[in-house]
Amino acid sequence: MKISDILTKGRVTVSCELFPPKTGAALARVEDVLRDTAALGPDFISVTYGAGGSTSKRTLELAARLQDAYHVPALAHLTCVSSTREEVTQQVARLRAAGIGSILALRGDIPQDTSFPTPEHFRYASELIAHIRGLEGGEELCIGAACYPEGHVECPHFSTDLDHLKQKVDAGADFLTTQMFFDNDVLYRFLFRALDRGITVPIVAGIMPVTNVQQIRRSCQLSGSVMPPRLQGIADRFGDDPAAMRQAGIAYATEQILDLIAHGVEHIHIYTMNKPDVAAKIMDNLSDILRPHG
Ligand code: FAD
Repeated sequence: MKISDILTKGRVTVSCELFPPKTGAALARVEDVLRDTAALGPDFISVTYGAGGSTSKRTLELAARLQDAYHVPALAHLTCVSSTREEVTQQVARLRAAGIGSILALRGDIPQDTSFPTPEHFRYASELIAHIRGLEGGEELCIGAACYPEGHVECPHFSTDLDHLKQKVDAGADFLTTQMFFDNDVLYRFLFRALDRGITVPIVAGIMPVTNVQQIRRSCQLSGSVMPPRLQGIADRFGDDPAAMRQAGIAYATEQILDLIAHGVEHIHIYTMNKPDVAAKIMDNLSDILRPHG
């Protein structure tokens, strides 16, 4: 089933995310991660694309396995920063042949030692989206794109970033998934401004459970996401105690999701980071809210 069909059913959805490990022990554990994440019963699972296309083959393999062995709809990420137009076309054909009908189309972060973009590259995700739509069978694909409630780190003006987001939707994006954010008011303001700009496709709220403070501080530095004082305080107090920080991160994410759903946000994406146990705790905390029985 295409992700766009899942997101237009008029109910709360929860999705999870996996990344293909590169080497070593994590690779050996990947089947457990697939099985345990699928067992949570998410509406779909997205599989990231390693920076610079480093895991493109494994993204496809994991997405296909999620669908074929665990019967969970998969969303395959695809970045174009390190692939030529021809390579992108081939990757889309491979995804389609493997039965993957939903793609999150991204530019990717520009590596420092690169001459990107050459005429062989797409410069922006909007160009990638238009290209995929124009391919034979492209109109049948579900295409998602990224959005940034605090603005993308390279774009000096939030309003200009929103113009670029509108270009992605006009190019054919069916839905958007947000960058992580830790202050729900940031998301509410963003949703208002996106709607005002005529962006009416479903927007999936990306929630990152903070269980490893160093890792999140690094990600925030790179992405420009802000840690509000309350989360800073929690990180300062519990950051050196892994068990306490895990519990605090789960509690914070649980509260964030509860508040989002109470305010009418329908689609929640948990950045599971190959930790199905963390997602399981959050989903258990909210079991009757995420899957109401009455
Ligand atoms: P774009 O939409 O192309 O935007 C990039 C920058 O260009 C922005 O500043 C934008 O304002 C600007 N811009 C866009 N159009 C124009 C224009 N016409 N003129 C001038 N400026 C323009 N990275 C990975 O490597 N692998 C992943 O799997 C992955 N998954 C992600 C999932 C989500 C939900 C999110 C939010 C991010 C993900 N990323 C991933 C990170 C992403 O690749 C980076 O944030 C990247 O820097 C931007 O990608 P984009 O698709 O948003 O780019």
